[in-house]
Amino acid sequence: MATGIKDLMPEIPGFQECWGISVIHCPYCHGYEYRGKKTGIWAPAEKAFHLAPLLLNLTDDLTILGQDVSNFTEEELKTLQKHGVEMVHHNVMAMEHKNGYLHKVVLDNGDKISFSAVYAGVPFEQSSDIPNSLGCELTEQGFIKTDHFQMTTVPGVFACGDNCISMRSVAQAVASGNLAGAMANMELSKESF
Ligand SMILES: Cc1cc2nc3c(=O)[nH]c(=O)nc-3n(C[C@H](O)[C@H](O)[C@H](O)COP(=O)(O)OP(=O)(O)OC[C@H]3O[C@@H](n4cnc5c(N)ncnc54)[C@H](O)[C@@H]3O)c2cc1C
Repeated sequence: MATGIKDLMPEIPGFQECWGISVIHCPYCHGYEYRGKKTGIWAPAEKAFHLAPLLLNLTDDLTILGQDVSNFTEEELKTLQKHGVEMVHHNVMAMEHKNGYLHKVVLDNGDKISFSAVYAGVPFEQSSDIPNSLGCELTEQGFIKTDHFQMTTVPGVFACGDNCISMRSVAQAVASGNLAGAMANMELSKESF
């Protein structure tokens, strides 16, 4: 199974059009292009707090959007404050953009704030239902469970790439695909030995 995952877009006008261009998910994939720019984080509090230190490597103009302070611990709030991370608790209602390049984020109080990029944490689902129909177990986060040799919980079924690894990258997908292919081949070779 090298079937990947499907990111689920929120119903925020403009979000989908900006996805992968200026509304992005990963500092390693997109961070360099948006370094030094006014940057937002739109994600659940835990994910927002996880992203904040990574993004502070790239910009000192960072704002967490759509999260109430009560979603963070006191210690987390102190840390965010110490590093100058702004908090705007209003919900994001729309993304104004040109050809996917973000201009302004529209908030539920009518305010519009300019951003160059917004890092978004969106839910996902498995792209293919085949692993599920074969009985492959998923982790709590929704990834296919595999062992160190990429075998799923169903003997003889191997998975690789985004469908089973939380660190999404081409390098990880290729490396795990290499291992899954070799292990599948070894099993088949042993069967007829
Ligand atoms: C916006 C964005 C930007 C990114 N930028 C980078 C980057 O700069 N650098 C980097 O390293 N990584 C980047 N990534 C992550 C990288 O794209 C993924 O980690 C990588 O593509 C995962 O490869 P994969 O083969 O596991 O899954 P995918 O690339 O998702 O491929 C899975 C394929 O399987 C197909 N499929 C699904 N079900 C079936 C079926 N039943 N039958 C046949 N085909 C099926 C799908 O259509 C898809 O083509 C980015 C991801 C996103 C979303």
